[in-house]
Amino acid sequence: MSSRWPEWLPLKDSLKSLSPYGAPQIPDVIRLNTNENPFDVPAPVVAAMTEALATVLPHLNRYPDRDAIQLRSQLADYINSQSGTNFAESNIWAANGSNEILQTLMLACGGRGALGFLPSYSVHPLIAQVTGTEFFNVARDDDFSVNISEAIDVINQRRPSLIFVTTPNNPTGTSMPISDLEQLATAASGIGSLLIVDEAYAEFSDETSAVTLIARYPHVVVVRTMSKAFAFAGARVGYLVARAEVVDAALITRLPYHLSAPTQALAISALRAAPLLLAEVDFLKSERERVAQALQAMGLIAVPSAANFLIFRGFAQNPSELWRSLMERGVLVRDIGIDGYLRVTIGAASENDAFLNALRQSI
Ligand SMILES: *Cc1c(COP(=O)(O)O)cnc(C)c1O
Repeated sequence: MSSRWPEWLPLKDSLKSLSPYGAPQIPDVIRLNTNENPFDVPAPVVAAMTEALATVLPHLNRYPDRDAIQLRSQLADYINSQSGTNFAESNIWAANGSNEILQTLMLACGGRGALGFLPSYSVHPLIAQVTGTEFFNVARDDDFSVNISEAIDVINQRRPSLIFVTTPNNPTGTSMPISDLEQLATAASGIGSLLIVDEAYAEFSDETSAVTLIARYPHVVVVRTMSKAFAFAGARVGYLVARAEVVDAALITRLPYHLSAPTQALAISALRAAPLLLAEVDFLKSERERVAQALQAMGLIAVPSAANFLIFRGFAQNPSELWRSLMERGVLVRDIGIDGYLRVTIGAASENDAFLNALRQSI
């Protein structure tokens, strides 16, 4: 693997085994492989964004608001309206996608290493490796749940400075009950570790958000994104919700002026349109149940999901063979590397029908 790199390039030894992250981006197929929101930004929101941009563009000669105060206060209002909490802008940090948030946290607080529950989001261990943060994997049970008492034992043995939980989990779609998260928060407090709850799919879930734990547990950090529920993946906006001291730590490792003025303005416009965009989330949740039932009707097994995607098993082929067969029928899903399973993102109704038809022809 390391022979891929030329001798003359002084790439760090710790990075030589890596290749760039990324799912295939293939044009002219139905793309149900990266958990995007399938709907274009609604016309009234595009109009509001265009207007907002027009006020920003003449001032691109100046650096943006380094601390993104208006955006952060708008994000605090959004979280408070969703979860009945009482956060201020000092409790929010925003960046170019939640992946940048995760990197900022690992750079600031990753000293004693990180721990996560696999299978989960592959970017967590990847960012750990890139930032020189040791990453320890704990296996989930066969139903993809986390055995909490075993998890607490391992946490107390390893004493990492960061504990990652993705809920709803990617790629499995399963969610962790808030009571389990609270037990992990207690364990994290006991060893002075941050419990980082990646809630990229929170809006698709009926489970209580971990933001409700922060008032009682200073070690809880919730990471959110506008990429999925807000149909905003192309703009790159993610954020964290935490105690103000965690935000102060993130300010140490962020790059100066990291979030452009156009990005901040666009995100503020999108947040003002939250009710409209969240109506799409409700539709996608109902489509998720429709697709799950159609899969069962085909004799397949779908894992109950609280996100905008499903994993399923019960087909005769290898996942990679079925992936290819669907691809040949114009539907791109994700081979997530879990034995026997494929993952499909919930799309618009016609896309979901196309997926189900292609699947019927393939199995
Ligand atoms: C999609 C996803 C993200 C989002 O990353 P962005 O950088 O905000 O687009 C973060 N965490 C998980 C688990 C995801 O699936």
